Amino acid sequence: MRLAERAKNISPSPTLAIDARAKKMIAAGEKVVNFGAGEPDFDTPEHIREAAIAAIRAGMTRYTPVAGTMQLRQAIVDKLRNDNGLDYRPEEIVVSAGAKHSLYNAMQVLLQPGDEVILPAPYWVSYLEQIKLAGAVPVIVQTRQENGFKLTVEELLSVVNRRTRMVIINSPGNPTGAVYTREELSALGHAVLEHGLIVISDEIYEKLLYDGLEHVSIASLSPALKEQTVVINGMSKAYAMTGWRIGYAAAPAPVAKAMADLQSHSTSNPTSIAQAASVAALTGTQEPVGEMVEEFRRRRDYMLERLQAIPGINCNRPGGAFYLFPSIDGYIGRQYKDHTIKGATDLAGILLDEVKVAVVPGVAFGDDRCFRLSYATSMENIREGLDRIEQVLKEIK
Ligand SMILES: *Cc1c(COP(=O)(O)O)cnc(C)c1O
Repeated sequence: MRLAERAKNISPSPTLAIDARAKKMIAAGEKVVNFGAGEPDFDTPEHIREAAIAAIRAGMTRYTPVAGTMQLRQAIVDKLRNDNGLDYRPEEIVVSAGAKHSLYNAMQVLLQPGDEVILPAPYWVSYLEQIKLAGAVPVIVQTRQENGFKLTVEELLSVVNRRTRMVIINSPGNPTGAVYTREELSALGHAVLEHGLIVISDEIYEKLLYDGLEHVSIASLSPALKEQTVVINGMSKAYAMTGWRIGYAAAPAPVAKAMADLQSHSTSNPTSIAQAASVAALTGTQEPVGEMVEEFRRRRDYMLERLQAIPGINCNRPGGAFYLFPSIDGYIGRQYKDHTIKGATDLAGILLDEVKVAVVPGVAFGDDRCFRLSYATSMENIREGLDRIEQVLKEIK
């Protein structure tokens, strides 16, 4: 059977691929330390799970409005006002089957063939594929580790041309944990307005912030910027609800309407029960979020200290999310047994084969001088995994 060109151009998610390989080894009884996880290792808080059970019992089992129940959209409107200083109306909110789906809908309704989208690297893999699926052209801009892996205005302006339509900002970011400051966003915002660009602002890691850093939504910087921005967020990361599949977009009404219309012909509404649980997540106690963040911070601090003590490893201090993204520049071109290390992919292969440690090579995010380590795993695993990594790195000649 012939596949459409569109399908032939999709690369399967490489982060899920390494995770799958590690899980296969674990299933076979091997003691793998998995630093590949892209989701919190915590359970969904109890009161949220109870809300879902109550929703089933109350018979909330039918179709809801395509863009989400009014109750959930109102809870999102309130959240955006209280947390982010953003004023939206329920008609400007579209709830989808995860933030990934929200991003997909946004790109489908905003991009045309030939449009260029500025994608700062290292990037989260699905952006790249979604841009291509919309027929647009990704313009990858390599950010610098010295700049905290953040896109600068100069870098942005160096690639803007008549065809540039959109720029993607992900703060706090996956895979780097980079958090943009208000000043940095404001500088980017000026350039965005000057060139009439659209911003997709993926704020899914908003709640996972450390060191007293502040989350700023670029849309909140001015009414003009809000008009040019689609804010993306969801339940997965803040509330440990990855499996529930609820994300949302906030966008100017005509864009939100187009996204809902598109969704009406694909998935329709996201699961009614998960929507009810999401209302509880947004309106109930935020205490579990705080506890999770505190545990993530403890792990980050420990891991960062250990990594920074390894010669040849250069790791930035991530301000948010649950990943470390060390550069392995110091090992490139060197030898482990009979392997020459050409990049993080080779090193990741050696770590998995030799000491059963799974990391995600940076090639997956457009930068193979680094790899991603997730600290969404127990302190015990983290200790053991770092011991094993150290052991391998010591043997590299
Ligand atoms: C996890 C993640 C998402 C999507 O999460 P959903 O489970 O689809 O809500 C979106 N963007 C980034 C950067 C992520 O890491």
